[in-house]
Amino acid sequence: MNLPLYFDFASTTPVHPAVVDKMLPYFSTQYGNAGSNQHYYGWQADEAVAESRAIIANYFQVRPNAVIFTSGATESNNLAIKGYLLNQKPSHIITSCIEHKAVLEVFRSLEELGWEVTYLMPNEFGEISPDQVSNHLKSNTCFISLMLVNNEIGTVLDYSSIKKIAQQHSICFHSDATQALGKIEIDASSLPDLLSFSAHKMYGPKGIGGLIVQPTVSLTGLFNGGGQERNIRSGTLPVQQIVGLAAAFKLIPEFLSKGIELKSFQKKIEDVFRSEFGVNLVLNSNSPTKIPHIINLTLKDVDWEKMFRSTAEIAYSNGSACNAKTTNPSHVLLALGHPNNHALSSMRLSLGYYTTKQEIDYLISYLTEKINRLIA
Ligand code: PMP
Repeated sequence: MNLPLYFDFASTTPVHPAVVDKMLPYFSTQYGNAGSNQHYYGWQADEAVAESRAIIANYFQVRPNAVIFTSGATESNNLAIKGYLLNQKPSHIITSCIEHKAVLEVFRSLEELGWEVTYLMPNEFGEISPDQVSNHLKSNTCFISLMLVNNEIGTVLDYSSIKKIAQQHSICFHSDATQALGKIEIDASSLPDLLSFSAHKMYGPKGIGGLIVQPTVSLTGLFNGGGQERNIRSGTLPVQQIVGLAAAFKLIPEFLSKGIELKSFQKKIEDVFRSEFGVNLVLNSNSPTKIPHIINLTLKDVDWEKMFRSTAEIAYSNGSACNAKTTNPSHVLLALGHPNNHALSSMRLSLGYYTTKQEIDYLISYLTEKINRLIA
């Protein structure tokens, strides 16, 4: 075992060796620009992009031109929301308080431009329900953005029901699926109109992601340039990254198959922590449909700075990675009703494809010893 043990797979994942192998030739021998349609090098690159696009389109059962390559989920979310809304007159849009900042901050910027935003609050399990969406619809609601799987507490959205509601009211439905791919099965027949994802959360490289744009949706690109990606996302295509993203998609069945073992790891951690820490422990989601990959717990009245300092053999976070460099409490935990100090003394342990039983046993005995000392 290599210390510190990595329990931050929701923040980022290592690149799978099969993905690295696929990418390597595109750094050295096959370095053409996919837009150079006058020569062999360009054709080779273009073919690699087309094959990759087909793999991803096939996974979602959409047409290849529904796949738009971006630099990652932050860009995909911005493109989906602003690309759909910015050329319309401001009206009413819906999201939730537990979205990633890459959605929340976009909605905040739209509020400044005159859009009316409803931020749905999670229930006690950290879930957002289709009924809440229905109850908050207005005659001028034109857009809903709700994440498929929450990156801090692992709750799963009933996107099929929300898709139906959106369809009935001719509302565009966007979902940030960054934490869902490789963790839950995706029902292609209920796919949202716009869907964001990112390779580095699914054992692919950083700096590449995508946006699925269903044919019914018309998007305007956010920057002007060479007109790549149907003029929705200009810029030279990073062929090696795209090939890596597609290779990661091919491995999804393998990643999914790890879910059963991760469920047993989750149960073991939660059972031991419950009996060790008793009233000091709050599990930040008991949703029955939550993914086992993310375990979020609050250790009430434990000094969070001491907690992090004394548990350095485990790499984990106390919020999303994007919050980790600041000492702000997680907005998701605050939305669940925690006061600031409890939100800060929280741990997000995220498990992944490479997590072993041996690591889980080490984590449990190490953390119970360290935390019991802080509680005593
Ligand atoms: N959405 C969610 C749910 C995420 O977990 C993340 C990564 N923390 C992002 C968006 C941002 O993704 P990227 O790093 O690819 O920009």
